[in-house]
Amino acid sequence: MKKILVVAEHRKGEIRPVTFEMLNLSSSIPGETTCVILGKDIGGMAEEISKKADRVIMVQHDSLENFNSELYWVALEEIIKEENPDIIALGHTAMGMELAPFISERIDAPLATDIVKIEEVNGKIHVHKYVFSNKILAELELRDSDTYVITIRQGEFKEEIDDKNGEIEERSFTPPGSISKRFIEYVEPEEVGVDISKADIIVSVGRGIEDEGNIELAEELAEALNGVVAGSRPVIDSGWLPKERQVGISGKTVKPKLYLALGISGAFQHIVGMKDSELIIAINRDPEAPIFQVAHYGVVGDIFDVVPELIERLKKG
Ligand SMILES: Cc1cc2nc3c(=O)[nH]c(=O)nc-3n(C[C@H](O)[C@H](O)[C@H](O)COP(=O)(O)OP(=O)(O)OC[C@H]3O[C@@H](n4cnc5c(N)ncnc54)[C@H](O)[C@@H]3O)c2cc1C
Repeated sequence: MKKILVVAEHRKGEIRPVTFEMLNLSSSIPGETTCVILGKDIGGMAEEISKKADRVIMVQHDSLENFNSELYWVALEEIIKEENPDIIALGHTAMGMELAPFISERIDAPLATDIVKIEEVNGKIHVHKYVFSNKILAELELRDSDTYVITIRQGEFKEEIDDKNGEIEERSFTPPGSISKRFIEYVEPEEVGVDISKADIIVSVGRGIEDEGNIELAEELAEALNGVVAGSRPVIDSGWLPKERQVGISGKTVKPKLYLALGISGAFQHIVGMKDSELIIAINRDPEAPIFQVAHYGVVGDIFDVVPELIERLKKG
């Protein structure tokens, strides 16, 4: 049994989903998960996390209201020393990317970043991660160490975890007299019309849609299904749909109830972003298209024949 220390991530009073994905690591590598949450007025969030973690360590202080790697390290140093975890997990996020190398250097532990899988093989820790612009999925064996630091790719580990009832322990914190970094403000990204990562039904179009004018067909189907339209990278690169509608490794990860893939070949860069959808239906005229390997149902046919027929039947109810 490994001791897994998860550093919770939250923003503006909300726990980031990656925190729950990390709490699920114990399903890949059997262990006890202790989640550390640092912040201000975080009692409610600690309570929420305790339902999914074996233990929660909560550190509250005004100075910890917003992420600051220097202060986080000061708060974490003592906890790491006391807990002596086998694995320290952070999200592969702006916060994790800044903090994880810092922790790894300070405690002289191997660091594996942006991992999509972790397992123990013959007593050695193995991690999987994409390399060479995501073209190769590599399996790496980490050198022997008492502690490993990892950052996990968001959307790769499931968020759903069995209920637990972890104890919450509160620890005190005294900020250092002077620090060199300070939080200035959050800059919100521009408002986007549709957030495909939250959609239940996605009609996704690939290069098979042929032309910008044909996107209308996908929109009509999405409307009949009460869903939204997304696309593969060539569709976005052609400017037929906005960037925030891109599904895949360099776009968004989606997990809708229904993912309908129209004229999408199923390159792994696309699959990575949609493979955890509850139900995948693919329509492609090539019976050998790799998308059929992840689809639950497949239609070998021309989208320009199948989709209008589908819309008509849906409209008929
Ligand atoms: C670093 C990197 C990052 C990338 N990131 C992403 C990413 O985030 N998302 C992404 O999607 N891609 C990404 N790609 C691109 C990826 O490798 C593929 O090129 C891309 O996913 C292919 O898109 P597609 O399936 O729409 O097009 P294609 O591969 O051209 O497939 C079109 C499919 O449509 C079918 N078809 C054609 N006409 C019809 C018709 N009338 N009826 C039915 N079927 C038809 C064809 O049989 C074919 O299978 C990335 C690539 C790299 C190198």
